[in-house]
Amino acid sequence: MRPYVDEEKCIACGTCAEVCPAEPVVFEVGDKSKVVHPEACTECEACVDNCPVQAIELKEPDE
Ligand code: SF4
Ligand code: SF4
Repeated sequence: MRPYVDEEKCIACGTCAEVCPAEPVVFEVGDKSKVVHPEACTECEACVDNCPVQAIELKEPDE
């Protein structure tokens, strides 16, 4: 699986990039959080659990 960010909900707080343990970090946060390295995701769910606005979901890439 990999994360998907709902840009309508994202407030660009940066938490997802801070808590993501992947190398390289899966997210890059500018105006919104963008998934820049989906292949690095280890499915730990830290981003999902720590996003303050529930903007992140883990899904299979072709769902
Ligand atoms: S599930 Fe874990 S490894 Fe994957 S993007 Fe979220 S914080 Fe990073
Ligand atoms: S933790 Fe949630 S609100 Fe914060 S930047 Fe990431 S996706 Fe956006």
